[in-house]
Amino acid sequence: MRIDNDPKLDFDDVLIRPKRSEAPSRASVELAREYRFLNGGTWRGVPIVAANMDTVGTFAMARALGPPMLTCLHKHYPEEALVDFFGEEGRADSAFFTVGLQDDEYDKLAAVKKKADVRMVCVDAANGYTKYFVERVKRIRDAFPELVVMAGNVATPDMVQELLISGAADIVKIGIGPGSVCTTRRTTGVGYPQLSAIIECADAAHGLRGHVCADGGCRYPGDVVKAFAAGADFVMLGGMLAGHDECEGTWVEEDGRRVALEFYGMSSREALDKYAGGRRDYRACEGRAVSVPYKGPVLDTMQEVAGGIRSACAYVGATRLKDLSKCTTFVLCQRPHGSMFA
Ligand code: 5GP
Repeated sequence: MRIDNDPKLDFDDVLIRPKRSEAPSRASVELAREYRFLNGGTWRGVPIVAANMDTVGTFAMARALGPPMLTCLHKHYPEEALVDFFGEEGRADSAFFTVGLQDDEYDKLAAVKKKADVRMVCVDAANGYTKYFVERVKRIRDAFPELVVMAGNVATPDMVQELLISGAADIVKIGIGPGSVCTTRRTTGVGYPQLSAIIECADAAHGLRGHVCADGGCRYPGDVVKAFAAGADFVMLGGMLAGHDECEGTWVEEDGRRVALEFYGMSSREALDKYAGGRRDYRACEGRAVSVPYKGPVLDTMQEVAGGIRSACAYVGATRLKDLSKCTTFVLCQRPHGSMFA
């Protein structure tokens, strides 16, 4: 057993120090980024991604957010629905097709890809540390070299390098344990504070011309800002997008009006009952269900997020989101809640 004594940080442990500068006006801050991927493809847009959870990663979310933002569609849509969606004009640059580790999911990707314009795929596993996972990413890369491949989740630079080099992924998804409905830290004791994970993994990825997507733990627009400031190329949101008109799932209604959405982790008992025929004997749930208040149209919330990023850029003198990270000095603060499970 070893102890890593370096302090590791979460979003709540830091703030961004304001700087004297020729502050740009908020309105002129450029939020769009342009990326060139290892596969030769390019993408331009605002690099915020809706998570591939079945309540949030919906067709309606993808239509509302993109372009310029992205949605990782959840993997439970039937083949025909995906063919129709990716057949629509102008959607292919705004939506990731999600696959897990099952062969039938791979077959569905191959089938949809034959009939429609899929350009981006997210290879998603709760634990991205297995050899099998890296092999699966590589298999998808080899079979579909023209696709932009996002793969995860991991939280340490060694595995980012492995996925970029051996798996040939373009974007590595970062986050073990920070999600709003994730119970991995409690159930397994495993995890990594998300801000440090982003800083360390972005450094590793950028050295190899790869990209990272920070996934999980953003509860406020300021957390999205901190994720970008830490070096994330993309930021993925689940809980912050739950409860909007564009979500699917079970709504609680009062007098015919929506008041709340049942939002659950994709490894929760609720999700396993729905999609995997229940929890297997050897497996513990690593997610929970919560009730999220109804929030109206998602674009209202995204305006708050975009406004937060613009304002942060003005505070530190960045004229573009691209420059936010290099203009950032984080200051350490005391945890408001004092617990990583707060
Ligand atoms: P949030 O933005 O809600 O904090 O985090 C969203 C992320 O949480 C998702 O993109 C996914 O990586 C992760 N997640 C979703 N469901 C579960 C779950 O049941 N268990 C765990 N460990 N993580 C989950």
